[in-house]
Amino acid sequence: MASENQELKSVGLKVTLPRVKILQILEAAEDDARHMSAEDVYQALRDAGEDVGLATVYRVLTQFENAGLVTRHNFTDPTGRSVRSVFELDKGDHHDHMVCTETGEVIEFTDSLIEERQQKIAEEHGFDLMDHSLVLYVKRKH
Ligand SMILES: [Zn+2]
Repeated sequence: MASENQELKSVGLKVTLPRVKILQILEAAEDDARHMSAEDVYQALRDAGEDVGLATVYRVLTQFENAGLVTRHNFTDPTGRSVRSVFELDKGDHHDHMVCTETGEVIEFTDSLIEERQQKIAEEHGFDLMDHSLVLYVKRKH
């Protein structure tokens, strides 16, 4: 709890119980489950016996996003039907994402060749690459 308090203060947020609890949930998430929707966070809080409402979860996650603690991704189903909003702790590392169109599972990856190619392509067009986001929409082979 002490480290969460520190972290909140360091980004200028007051320490409140919901903020601490939600930060703990995000920090405790395993690598393969570190992209959580607000509903996922809400469910994890309930499982831990915490009484925090969904509206509070949304509000706190948005505050975390504005403070730079978390990154929000809006993954749009390529069919355009649904947008899945997930949050992950911002650890300052760059990575790209794959989203399973069947389960919504989010997989992280990095590929130095892709990174290099993007750099080159921007340069060939006379630009410096500032940032990029790449999302692959996938379906597991059966
Ligand atoms: Zn990620």
